[in-house]
Amino acid sequence: MPMSSTRGKITLIGAGLNGPLLAILLIQRGYRVELYERRPDMRRVRLNAGRFINLALSTRGIHGLQQAGLWDSMRSIIIPMKGRMMHSLAGGLTFQPYGKNESEVINSISRAELNIALINAAEQQGAKIHFHQRCTGYDLKTGVIRLFNQDTGEPTTEEAEVVIGCDGSASSIRSEMLKLNRFDFSQQHLDYGYKELTIPAGACGEHLLETHALHIWPRGNYMLIALPNIDGTFACILFLPFEGADSFAGIQTEEEVYRFFQSRFPDALPLMPQLANNFFANPTGSMVTIKCSPWQVEGRALLLGDAAHAIVPFFGQGINCGFEDCTALVELLDRYGPEWMRVFAEFEKERKVNTDAIANMAIENFIEMRDRVADSRFLFRKEVELALEAKYPQLFVPKYSMVTFHRIPYSVALARGEIQDRILAELCASIDRVEDIDWTKADLLVHRDLNPLEIPQ
Ligand SMILES: Cc1cc2nc3c(=O)[nH]c(=O)nc-3n(C[C@H](O)[C@H](O)[C@H](O)COP(=O)(O)OP(=O)(O)OC[C@H]3O[C@@H](n4cnc5c(N)ncnc54)[C@H](O)[C@@H]3O)c2cc1C
Repeated sequence: MPMSSTRGKITLIGAGLNGPLLAILLIQRGYRVELYERRPDMRRVRLNAGRFINLALSTRGIHGLQQAGLWDSMRSIIIPMKGRMMHSLAGGLTFQPYGKNESEVINSISRAELNIALINAAEQQGAKIHFHQRCTGYDLKTGVIRLFNQDTGEPTTEEAEVVIGCDGSASSIRSEMLKLNRFDFSQQHLDYGYKELTIPAGACGEHLLETHALHIWPRGNYMLIALPNIDGTFACILFLPFEGADSFAGIQTEEEVYRFFQSRFPDALPLMPQLANNFFANPTGSMVTIKCSPWQVEGRALLLGDAAHAIVPFFGQGINCGFEDCTALVELLDRYGPEWMRVFAEFEKERKVNTDAIANMAIENFIEMRDRVADSRFLFRKEVELALEAKYPQLFVPKYSMVTFHRIPYSVALARGEIQDRILAELCASIDRVEDIDWTKADLLVHRDLNPLEIPQ
């Protein structure tokens, strides 16, 4: 049922994941929303390869969907993952739970399904979505956007007094801001690329690996991961260096693909009958961290989501963080009303310190996932972490849990995580069993170094 708009128009660029969610939250507050998306309508046109990758949705993302009234309807398209299932080279399996109990899970969801659900909901609530419309520029003085119809080749312009760039890591709105004096911008690419692969469902539509887990084949400086889909398939991603030994550059023929998988992922290979086809049909993606400032210009234009702060995917937080942007922005709007300059400035002040923190944690987590999860000392530390959390629930919450299962600001999670790492290093130094934790020392360190944690509900 479309909502009636009592306030002004807001123009959003990009109907990826953040654009439609933000549209809904704005419409609920009485704004009229126009969305311009360069791609065709994904409900009608088959997506290119590379757009099927699954996302891990966790507490922050779920909160955003709840605020928009969408979470309950999403439950049928997610699969909860309770932990990581590590696959050793010899085929051994080790399961490591993500959280302290079964309610602490992350949720596998198809990016395309999530995007379609968001677009449908935004349209139902009254957002006007213009597909095939690529934004080619924005005049920050006159408030006019330039558009190019990708289908007909027709260029047009539209008045857009308030524009929010939700147009991802190659944002057109950010490109305009780059022309301004003293605009800070940095982009850092990883030397690694990623490739989407598939494990099909079994003969009866069943999952061929444990369903409720995120599977990881950690191999030192690279890895394969697999996330379950509701249709019985697994969406896999191979993360590999672009160059050098064991790299994308080193795999050029079908024979090389099979040889590589046979030697490095022997238990995954029999599950991937389409391996060579997938490998050569799907593009090799790159991963980038983008930081920039300011995110806004005179209450007229704002960047949000990946447009403001693209991060590498290893903490599974890109969209969780983006949805948190959306709720943070509308909370400020609720507080200050449409004083855009103030709202946008406060938004950047509140969010940037946190998005910088998750950007750094996401890079650190790459090393953890591809390498350290295979190390028995690392797994032991994780057990000690959970024991400390059970004993000191208001003081010691593992960094992974602060980021994934709570809405504790990312910057707080980063800072406390560093203190907790030091405590863990001291407590684990000379023991191999959780039963041997020196609780007197733990008491002293935890109470000395950590203040009670404020956990937003
Ligand atoms: C391999 C991989 C795995 C990931 N896994 C996770 C995960 O597990 N969990 C998680 O939370 N995040 C994950 N992410 C990150 C997540 O995908 C991004 O953070 C999220 O998609 C950002 O949403 P967005 O709406 O800001 O940008 P996007 O989703 O990129 O959407 C931007 C939209 O804008 C459109 N657009 C771009 N330019 C223009 C223009 N000039 N004019 C009009 N439209 C335009 C695009 O077509 C697109 O539809 C992953 C990312 C990758 C690459």
